[in-house]
Amino acid sequence: MDIVDYRPETAMVIFAHPDDAEIGSGGTVSKWSKNGTEITFVQCTTGNSGSNDLKMTSEKIEILRQKEQKEAANVIGVKNLISLEYEDGKLKASDDFLEQIVENIRKFKPEVVFTHDHFRKNSFQHRDHRNTGITVQDAVYPFARDHLHFENQIKNGLSTHKVKEIFFWGADEPNIIVDITESINTKIQALSMHKSQIPGLSVGSDLWNSMKKRHEDASIKFKFKYGEVFRRVKARS
Ligand SMILES: [Zn+2]
Repeated sequence: MDIVDYRPETAMVIFAHPDDAEIGSGGTVSKWSKNGTEITFVQCTTGNSGSNDLKMTSEKIEILRQKEQKEAANVIGVKNLISLEYEDGKLKASDDFLEQIVENIRKFKPEVVFTHDHFRKNSFQHRDHRNTGITVQDAVYPFARDHLHFENQIKNGLSTHKVKEIFFWGADEPNIIVDITESINTKIQALSMHKSQIPGLSVGSDLWNSMKKRHEDASIKFKFKYGEVFRRVKARS
């Protein structure tokens, strides 16, 4: 497993539901944003189906989740928060969705893109996560890179863009780790903004400590205390 210790100037996190970005990459992107990286979040669905509370309606959840996601993004230090507003649970790897991801990549020009690992085999995975991951990989290569794909975007003033690396979270076999010792508390603090999804996540709570423990276990073979792991795919230069 390689240690990633560089910092790009731009990074984008593309995620299915409110809170996925923080769970998957919150330590790394908050560390990078604090040191000057421009972070863009692209939230693909409204997250309006994820509730066990029978009194909750989809409309109420949508408003609440958007507010919570904004607060979490502020804690992380996100500069641009884009919301594509697909319906939760109905995200397909469609051409329309691909076109929107490509447009955002061409607009914000991230060096590194974070997303869900769609190749996970050993555990359950939400279909929105799978469809996000596969669409993001397609968007990075070759669609955002090559000008004959979605030519209208080029005609309207955007230019092609080559993403250098994708960092997939939730991988069966991660191949990189980022030292997040300086940002572990920021990550969990950002997650605590998602009160309707993760209630009871206060400083020092059992949940807080178990989240820290997971990142401590990830870095057990390394010299730093807390780590975030990913499966990295690099573009050919
Ligand atoms: Zn999710």
